[in-house]
Amino acid sequence: MSYSTLKQTGFKRPQRERAPLPAPTRATRRAVMANLTSPAAAVPKSERGCNKHLLAMAKGKPCLIRSPLCNYDTETTVACHGGGVANGKGMSYKVSDAMTCWGCSGCNHYTDAYGGATRAQKTEAFMLGHLAQVCEWRAIATSTHASPKDRAAAKWALDTLNALAAARNPSEEKKA
Ligand SMILES: [Zn+2]
Repeated sequence: MSYSTLKQTGFKRPQRERAPLPAPTRATRRAVMANLTSPAAAVPKSERGCNKHLLAMAKGKPCLIRSPLCNYDTETTVACHGGGVANGKGMSYKVSDAMTCWGCSGCNHYTDAYGGATRAQKTEAFMLGHLAQVCEWRAIATSTHASPKDRAAAKWALDTLNALAAARNPSEEKKA
């Protein structure tokens, strides 16, 4: 009984794809979104994390998104919310300021209105930028050269992300 079950399910030959790479289905896109953005990306409006100083810190910083439209012009850098790719847009959710990253005007356009990229591509570009942003915030939060205000804002962003992650996965211990 169990042997036949194993035979049926254990060593199936991989089936050949008939078509070349199929266009991503709605479900695939959702899976990519879920994987990349995670529920931490969006918080209810009432709990939205706002931090004006954190946003202001983007001024003059290098772009971290570096999409195909990147202009590498630090003069155009702002804190990018991802143009809605990290959930949020058009829903009763707003993206937390902790879910931002430094992005030039080219990359802001890429992750928002630009029609030449899929939503999945935009999301990936933004989330990679955000990953780099977390590293930047970690460096600032512990730097003796950063101003106390900058340090506090960076720490706020990291704490907010940790809190969102802990809320998503209660078994995960919050790291100090
Ligand atoms: Zn850029």
